[in-house]
Amino acid sequence: MSDETKSIHEFDVELIVEYYATLERQGPGSPELTLKALSFIENLHDDAHIADVGCGSGGQTMVLAQNAPGRITGVDLFPAFIDKFNRNAEEQGLQHRVKGIVESMDSMSFEDEELDLIWSEGSIYNIGFERGFREWRRFLKPGGCVAVSEASWFTNERPAEIEEFWMDAYPGIDTIPNKMAQMQNAGYVPLASFIVPDRCWKEDFYEPQVRAQEVFLETHAGNRAAVDFIENQRHEIQLYHKYSQYYGYAFYIGKKL
Ligand code: SAH
Repeated sequence: MSDETKSIHEFDVELIVEYYATLERQGPGSPELTLKALSFIENLHDDAHIADVGCGSGGQTMVLAQNAPGRITGVDLFPAFIDKFNRNAEEQGLQHRVKGIVESMDSMSFEDEELDLIWSEGSIYNIGFERGFREWRRFLKPGGCVAVSEASWFTNERPAEIEEFWMDAYPGIDTIPNKMAQMQNAGYVPLASFIVPDRCWKEDFYEPQVRAQEVFLETHAGNRAAVDFIENQRHEIQLYHKYSQYYGYAFYIGKKL
């Protein structure tokens, strides 16, 4: 990492949450991709209970709700996201089946064997992939499924610049076969894995940020921390354009044994 590039961990979490709450999605993905992942799930019914862990403002949750039976509990650590989540659910007339709650993914209050499906797009990194799969397992009914998207290396080796970026941002990033093995070791049958396509980063995640960054800078004019944060975001986007053949997100879907 060059001297002028700050680590994402150095920024004020309030600032990060405020920025991401202005976006429809807080991670790479798309409605089509959510539906593709959902197509592997066969155990849902009208009484099913789904958890969307690290749901953010609920972009993917509302897609799930419109296309899957049962009710959904969205879980996120930050009230700003959950407020927006519950407003979204209401606007879409989904409030009877979709509810957001503020909890941490490492201490969720679900009962053992309460859930039919755990969904988590771009969030499990907050406690780590294998740890998440292990700890969430008890909440699932036998035969229940987990579907997550997670930062992954596409190759065994990669340039030092991008390796260093990820070792700072999320050292848990690993290759797809290694992630599949972690899922199996945590007590699941791996059902599927597929790569989140380039357009989900560029068009669905990064493109809306161009305007969001301008607005954020206007709102925080003269605030050094805000300027540094946006510079950091722009650096991350540049790295993706430069190195996207080496890394990205992959979906991982497993079934509890
Ligand atoms: N699933 C959403 C958001 C992904 S961003 C999407 O794909 O758009 C990661 C999310 O994890 C953020 O909403 C963040 O607030 C949440 N998060 C971070 N730490 C968390 C924790 N300990 N428990 C629950 N959620 C957490």
